[in-house]
Amino acid sequence: MRGIAAVPSYVVMQPTTLCNLDCVYCYLPLRAVDQRMPVAVAEAVATAVRPWAASGRFSVVWHGGEPLAAGREHLAALLAPFGPAVEHHVQTNATLIDDAWCAFFVEHGIRVSVSVDGPRARNGERVTRGGRPAYDRILTGVAALRRHGLPFSALAVVSRPEPGLATELYDYFLDLGCDVLGINIEETEGVNTRTNARDAASVTGFWAELVGAWRRDPRIHLREVEWSLRYAGAVLAGTADDLLPRRLDPIPTVGHDGSVVVLSPELAGFSDPRYGDFSSGNVLTTPLAEILAGAGRTPWVGEFLTGVEACRSSCPYFGFCGGGHAANRYFELGRFDGTETEHCRNSKIRLLEGVLEHARDHESPAA
Ligand code: SF4
Repeated sequence: MRGIAAVPSYVVMQPTTLCNLDCVYCYLPLRAVDQRMPVAVAEAVATAVRPWAASGRFSVVWHGGEPLAAGREHLAALLAPFGPAVEHHVQTNATLIDDAWCAFFVEHGIRVSVSVDGPRARNGERVTRGGRPAYDRILTGVAALRRHGLPFSALAVVSRPEPGLATELYDYFLDLGCDVLGINIEETEGVNTRTNARDAASVTGFWAELVGAWRRDPRIHLREVEWSLRYAGAVLAGTADDLLPRRLDPIPTVGHDGSVVVLSPELAGFSDPRYGDFSSGNVLTTPLAEILAGAGRTPWVGEFLTGVEACRSSCPYFGFCGGGHAANRYFELGRFDGTETEHCRNSKIRLLEGVLEHARDHESPAA
């Protein structure tokens, strides 16, 4: 894996910067401001995406802010230029979902992913602008999805890994009815400056326990565990070198104003005296394909690629991780060419170690 690919596998779109919630650990800097994406931005992205979608599966992920806060009418206008060739996904806090939104998801073929951190007591930091718990409103939205028979994914933030939590969460999400689950250990990112340094044994134990819970009833596609098992299987088969893509997926995030930030959506909306606003161009003035072809020349991206090479030569987990995320390096280390971060310790190194710990504790040696 060297450099950045010219063609992404998906595009992240920010229909509005606004979010109707104010979660304590949120990284978004402009979530109190309703800056909406003009339709011209969607038209420019759709023009770029058309040939990519013609040659295989291509996704557009609507992310925020809270994308549903843009309203159905505006979101429909942003979806229209893409036509039927792409798959649409939305990452939502679910609090605005009702019957009308469910009909909208069906009409536009949108796959929904809900942000919820587990049972009520685990959602204390998901709050409204007035500081009130959002949990009941989240569940009302999930109930609407279920009523309409819409499959959905879930994304949970874990702030304090502790014994018993992984089992509690997995059982909760089985009951909730999601078919895919991703777990994010809280990250120090954006305007969330809380430390994400965690006790190593607690995090490793959390992942090991999660594998155990999943193995007892593996009805949910558990994102992190499936990544790890795919890697472990490839190592055993001697094919691990083929797992990482030949080039990094650029994952362009198109901001509400058409600016494009590659590799890490979390950098959008920030600026730095050294790196500027992190953008590689704007789709209103430059075709997206041209922006991506030149993204490697964006100063911070070059520095990040140096960091990826440092990871390759120094880290035994590189084959699994591929060099981590740009935003975690920036927000934890202040630059892009470092290697280990608390994020990669929590979510890559200890994840893999947790899976191995589970295997060691539960597999008897061959006779
Ligand atoms: S685990 Fe950390 S140090 Fe290792 S390759 Fe990933 S980002 Fe780099």
